[in-house]
Amino acid sequence: MTPLLWAVVFACAGLVAVCTGVLAWRRRHRTPAATALAATMSGVATWSTADAVVYAAGSEPVQRAYVPLLMAAVGLVVVGTWVLARTVADPSWRMTPVAAALLAIEPVLLVVTGTLPATRDLVITDMMSGAAGAESRVTFGPLFLAHTAYSYALIGVAYAFLVRRWFRAAGVFRRQIGILLGSACLSTVGNVLSVSSQLDGHGTDLTPLFFLLTGLVDCWAIFRGGLLRLVPVAREQVVDTVPDAVLVVDPDGVLIDGNPAATRMLRRLRPELDGDLVGRPLAEVAGARALAVLGTTEYRDGHRVAEVRPGVWLDVRDSAVSDPRGRALGRILVVRDVSEQQERQVAVERLNQQLAEQVEVIERLRAVLAEEAVRDPLTGLHNRRHLDRALEADLARRPRTGQLSLLVVDVDHFKAVNDRFGHAAGDRVLTAVAGTLTGAVRDGDTAARLGGEEFVLVLPGAGREQALDRGEQVRREVAAARHALDGETVTVTVSVGVAVCPADGTSAAALLEAADRALYTAKATGRDRVVAAEPTPRPAVPAPATPGDLQELVPGV
Ligand code: GH3
Ligand code: MG
Ligand code: MG
Repeated sequence: MTPLLWAVVFACAGLVAVCTGVLAWRRRHRTPAATALAATMSGVATWSTADAVVYAAGSEPVQRAYVPLLMAAVGLVVVGTWVLARTVADPSWRMTPVAAALLAIEPVLLVVTGTLPATRDLVITDMMSGAAGAESRVTFGPLFLAHTAYSYALIGVAYAFLVRRWFRAAGVFRRQIGILLGSACLSTVGNVLSVSSQLDGHGTDLTPLFFLLTGLVDCWAIFRGGLLRLVPVAREQVVDTVPDAVLVVDPDGVLIDGNPAATRMLRRLRPELDGDLVGRPLAEVAGARALAVLGTTEYRDGHRVAEVRPGVWLDVRDSAVSDPRGRALGRILVVRDVSEQQERQVAVERLNQQLAEQVEVIERLRAVLAEEAVRDPLTGLHNRRHLDRALEADLARRPRTGQLSLLVVDVDHFKAVNDRFGHAAGDRVLTAVAGTLTGAVRDGDTAARLGGEEFVLVLPGAGREQALDRGEQVRREVAAARHALDGETVTVTVSVGVAVCPADGTSAAALLEAADRALYTAKATGRDRVVAAEPTPRPAVPAPATPGDLQELVPGV
């Protein structure tokens, strides 16, 4: 390789390192690991660029400036690598100013000694780039070797952190730490090979190229493996031990971690999914339908409970996670399968529903029984018990000035119907008469069977004339009805007695008695007629005494 070609290679490497560093820097808000990676890449960029310049123009001043630049770049790379490993190994770790100062001591010391003419040789002496056409040559001073040992020690400690973490980590974390360790090995091996091959003072230091490779692998991990999406949660202490499914989702909705319960739950939800669920969008692993159902479910006390699949009920608690500066890191979903509880609740609700239906049936039956208790089973009219209550209530309601009429209706010569056609035929006639009575009453009136072939109509608000009219209407309709009994057409008539409150009495008993008396009159005067009760004669009031009376009583007055 010609020096110019080397210059081009290092220049390209520098450019790639700059790009990688910028990409990492832009994601520094996600995790401190990004800042560390950006620092490492800036070191690689400086290192490669310095190498490129040395190979392109190996003049004395350039070579003099090269040494401190190299020391600064190596310092950045070593410290950046250490911080990156430390941060990934312990996400809660933050660099303190003291740690930063301690880490800066060695690189600053090397830069200063590499700059000062008096001490420069302690770092690198006799440096020759291949620019002049000669073979590149370099002799390391004692400080450089000490610096190399220090750097290896520092990086060794960092890798020890990572290795220890790798053993304790699980899932995505373990994989990510594995990637970091692998990429770190690349640069370390490259550096060891380069430095050892240069110990004799000849050859080209390819370390920056290996560090660039490391950076590229880390970069790949950043964009494809979600390395920098690490959310600093105390996973082992919390996530793996809880029975609930815990899912960590990054700001882009990608599942970046889940505990074993989450994996079991997702596998049960989407048995068709195979492969690693971490790293895929939540909509893909949980199913768009489940997310849509949850999205439309109302939040109650910080929970959403929804049936995401037939028979699968999930209780989801969704918490946003942010770093100490309030920047969004993602969301933690704690999911509990509440299908069993929900099933029980549904069963209880179903039982309640059945109970309510049974209560309704019982209530209906009770109402039917209550109604039957006040109905006459043959005719369907109200019975005597209801009549007594209704009449009392109507009388109590009757306005002081209002009237109320009571009609007693008795079938004429009914015994003859029974005797001739039998009891069953008599029942049919009674039912037909009851039908006529039912048709004759209006809202608020009462039609009742008093017993045998005797019926009563109560007409609140009706006076004598209206009652007589209604009685006449009933009489006419009954007489007009034709009953087919034993192939014969039979007609029956009724006699009606009418009593009016208050003229004929104000109590139920008095009214019934008055109506009975009128009925008796109707029977006695030929039947098939309506007769009003005779108004009760007023008690006789003695006429005022006249002088004649006095003469009669007291002869001689
Ligand atoms: P009157 O014109 O004087 O009222 O003569 P009547 O025959 O209608 O009166 P009576 O009181 O002599 O006879 C009533 C008959 O009604 C006697 C009884 O057998 C009959 N009766 C009473 N209850 C029922 C019943 O539920 N069904 C049938 N078929 N007949 C009944
Ligand atoms: Mg009769
Ligand atoms: Mg009778």
